[in-house]
Amino acid sequence: MEPSARTEQPGLEKSEVFFSKKVNPVRVGDVLIGGPEFVAIAGPCSIEGAEHLLTTAKFVKQAGASLLRGGIWKLRTSSHSFQGLGAEAVQFVQKVVQEVGMSLVTEITDPRQIEIIDDVVGMYQVGARNMFNYALLKELGQTRKPVLLKRSFAAQIDEWIKAAEYITAGGNNQVALCERGIRTFETATRYTFDLNAVLVAKQKTAFPVVVDPSHAVGMREHVPALCYAAAAAGADAVLVEVHPDPEAALSDGRQTLNFQQFEHMMQRMEKILEVLGRPLTRLDLG
Ligand code: PEP
Ligand code: MN
Repeated sequence: MEPSARTEQPGLEKSEVFFSKKVNPVRVGDVLIGGPEFVAIAGPCSIEGAEHLLTTAKFVKQAGASLLRGGIWKLRTSSHSFQGLGAEAVQFVQKVVQEVGMSLVTEITDPRQIEIIDDVVGMYQVGARNMFNYALLKELGQTRKPVLLKRSFAAQIDEWIKAAEYITAGGNNQVALCERGIRTFETATRYTFDLNAVLVAKQKTAFPVVVDPSHAVGMREHVPALCYAAAAAGADAVLVEVHPDPEAALSDGRQTLNFQQFEHMMQRMEKILEVLGRPLTRLDLG
């Protein structure tokens, strides 16, 4: 079917993507997720040091990311793997985000971390392994910071939405959902990227929807195509892992783009967004 034919079907929105709910945008610093513009969140899987974070942040910003990602505490499948720099990173992280002028999206793995990092964080990320941690969700419901709620790799869409409501029930309505791949019988990819979930979550809820193809597919060569597909399907933002030297990354190197790959992806993304009529949010580089 021609795309234009689809838009003419009675009952479908003018855009090819059908959503019944109006989105409640989430504001992170000056950046709006779920507004008229598309957002790119990028940075390393784990924060590995001040220089490393600053170099990466400067690069992703000029390439078109408007929010910086980076893990301070990491929830790893093996307790022997790198667990993140933890509290020792907090001081330099604050300096870096101020210097580069980007808000940080970072994972909170324990409610006791709120008092340590609340000043540093632009948006709290709840990781896939904590989506069912209702004590953590309730604590975040008491903060007035935006929250990015990742879908557990074993959660149904309905469970994911209900988890988000644990946060909003506390009075914090600044919640965005993030699809990051689910576990299926497939082993050729790290997880299975569930684009269906983006459409259904947008249809059923007012939460902005972010996608994380890096963790979903687990192979850097497939990350850009999944970002384009998600943008075309109506996702509000992408979360992408970027590192100056992915092979040397302390976590998730295999799924991480290098600078050149990220820049190239963002150039193509902007062309695709132009066709979709949804510009990319860019920070002032001056
Ligand atoms: C991450 O984004 O760094 C991460 C650990 O992702 P997830 O919780 O989706 O595995
Ligand atoms: Mn990672």
